[in-house]
Amino acid sequence: MRAEVAIVGNGVAGTACAMRLAREGIRPLLIGPGLPVDRPPLTKSALADGVPRLLSDAARLAERGIDLLDGMVASVDLAACMLTVATEEGETSVAAERVVLTTGLAYRPPPIPGLDGAFVNANPHVFDALGRLLTSGPVEIIVVGAGLIGTESAATLAQAGHSVTLVDLLDRPLDRLHAPLPDLGRETLDELGVQFHGGVAIESATEYSLETAAHGTLEADVILAATGGVPFAPPGLAIDPEHLPLAVAADMLVPGYERAYACGDLVLVPHARFGAMRFPHWDAAIGTGEHVADSIAGNGGPYERLPYWWSDIGPRRLAEVGFAEAASTWAEEDGLHVGRNTSGEPVCVLVVDAPRRLREARAIVQDGA
Ligand SMILES: Cc1cc2nc3c(=O)[nH]c(=O)nc-3n(C[C@H](O)[C@H](O)[C@H](O)COP(=O)(O)OP(=O)(O)OC[C@H]3O[C@@H](n4cnc5c(N)ncnc54)[C@H](O)[C@@H]3O)c2cc1C
Repeated sequence: MRAEVAIVGNGVAGTACAMRLAREGIRPLLIGPGLPVDRPPLTKSALADGVPRLLSDAARLAERGIDLLDGMVASVDLAACMLTVATEEGETSVAAERVVLTTGLAYRPPPIPGLDGAFVNANPHVFDALGRLLTSGPVEIIVVGAGLIGTESAATLAQAGHSVTLVDLLDRPLDRLHAPLPDLGRETLDELGVQFHGGVAIESATEYSLETAAHGTLEADVILAATGGVPFAPPGLAIDPEHLPLAVAADMLVPGYERAYACGDLVLVPHARFGAMRFPHWDAAIGTGEHVADSIAGNGGPYERLPYWWSDIGPRRLAEVGFAEAASTWAEEDGLHVGRNTSGEPVCVLVVDAPRRLREARAIVQDGA
């Protein structure tokens, strides 16, 4: 099989890249398992009703001039732009003029005995079984990991009427994020009736229980692992896993290759203002995916899209523009949480439960540039 551009990974960045390429008159081949599934609903609407949301379907993609190959890329030769893809019918080879890597993060539980049997709702394929369990009536659930994915999941499940316990090794939900996010997370979980236990070291797990060091045995009908993801590249790349996420150039080319690009959660975003940044969020996946397409079409330039992420924790609406890691101080200013760098410039603004103020937040960070 031949392709103008072979896109390895059919998630948020890969689909955004394919759509923009098609608009530029370039025919992409989007490779990945099944149809492209959106990720944010997996902790929100899909967890409430058991049904993942598609980014597009086969008919609409075909209409736009996007070819699909349902399978997993088993190996890649980036210099030759040759791929081997494992499909249900067997292995097939793809010779492309250009390759785009966009395989995102791999969400696997940590190597604790038995925990690999837990449901991981960041992976859409688990929803066949998980959806059936969650829609059969209220159940008792333990969510392991209180980062954004775990905290959102716990809140959604509690809102849907389940009895939810959230555990983490760290003392607070959203503990790695800046103030006031951990306190806001805890407050919202309390309001929704989620039991939070911090400082929980899990020693082993079964399908229905966790054995912990200081909290004894915790039991539930469903165990959900939300323990985070690590950048994942397909096999066969001459890239040391230590070098992930990939530090791509401003034109999104993989260093050392002339026809291989990467985008989405797999890359350090080459931001014109903030430098190379790790920013595994939905809007950056779309932005970097489209930026690859622009570079391939000859319309490249610096990547300047203002970083942005949002999170819905039950009824709570969080949205942040800018780059929190660039901030050295945080203060509440007229109801917005503003992060400033060492020169006093606003580099990040967190908006809590005020979606209409997002435009204002953007202007604050933009004017600080
Ligand atoms: C559960 C969840 C909730 C989220 N909620 C939010 C949110 O509320 N707000 C926000 O800003 N961000 C959110 N994010 C982050 C956002 O969705 C990601 O940043 C975005 O999906 C990254 O896009 P990507 O294309 O790089 O990776 P993904 O969207 O994960 O796509 C990667 C794709 O590559 C495919 N793939 C992997 N290996 C291969 C292979 N060998 N061959 C072919 N295909 C392969 C996978 O099947 C997958 O389809 C959430 C993420 C998750 C997981």
